[in-house]
Amino acid sequence: RTVYLNGEYLPENEASVSIFDRGFLMADGVYEVTSVLGGKLIDFDGHAVRLQRSLDELDMRSPISKEDLLEVHRELVRVNEIDEGMIYLQITRGAPGDRDFVFPDPETTTPTIVLFTQSKPGLADNPAALKGMKVISIEDIRWGRRDIKTVQLLYPSMGKMMAKKAGADDAWMTEDGFVTEGTSNNAYIVKGNRIITRGLSNDILHGITRAAVLRFAQEAQMEVEERNFTIEEAKDADEAFVTSASTFVMPVVEIDGVSLGEGVPGRVAPRLREIYLEESRKAAI
Ligand code: PLP
Repeated sequence: RTVYLNGEYLPENEASVSIFDRGFLMADGVYEVTSVLGGKLIDFDGHAVRLQRSLDELDMRSPISKEDLLEVHRELVRVNEIDEGMIYLQITRGAPGDRDFVFPDPETTTPTIVLFTQSKPGLADNPAALKGMKVISIEDIRWGRRDIKTVQLLYPSMGKMMAKKAGADDAWMTEDGFVTEGTSNNAYIVKGNRIITRGLSNDILHGITRAAVLRFAQEAQMEVEERNFTIEEAKDADEAFVTSASTFVMPVVEIDGVSLGEGVPGRVAPRLREIYLEESRKAAI
């Protein structure tokens, strides 16, 4: 596999980063994951805009222009022959040469940028979408700026492990009883023809897939309500689902051992998945 590191295309085993990199020492960095369908990028623009916002919020400079970033994404898809899969992008504050809590001078320390591809044949025709996911609920103990897509992923990773141990697929996090989001996705419930999801704030990541799915739902005359919902309300819902760049729309059929509806994917989530895949393929670049 060919990867991209600081302006160079390299075989993955030749790409290396300093032990002083602040991404490694302090999780001082941000990332994006963009999906690839039919060799084309889904929502590149949305990801590029959110990346810039994450960088701005952390006072970090981008080492690359948006145009060049698109070029790197396309080149990696080409050389690695990715038909379906993902592109992972990470920018960290770089390696100042010693460990220090104070941000290094951006004139002397440049950010580290890494991109690599992950080939996932069958991403769109994922059989998991026919079965639906089981989730457990866990307390959301992450920091208060979840709108910034940082590489600080230890708790979400622990959440996935807790889910796995409990025989589930993922965890939904709750704060004061209200669902914030999944470990790596946005969370939704469905009541009748109405889709309910938490509104945007610093409490959750502003999902790129979320924005697209809510737009498509409204275009398809579905009702969308952005508000907090409790885990108890979720267990009583007709349907539930999650969205993310790597899973698109994925039905949830069980929460904390409680089956939703018939315990199989319902009407709304599979339909939204279909619409999302169709529209995204059309708009892919
Ligand atoms: N929420 C969290 C915590 C995430 O990590 C992710 C994606 O990785 C999402 C939501 C979904 O965001 P997107 O649709 O942009 O992939």
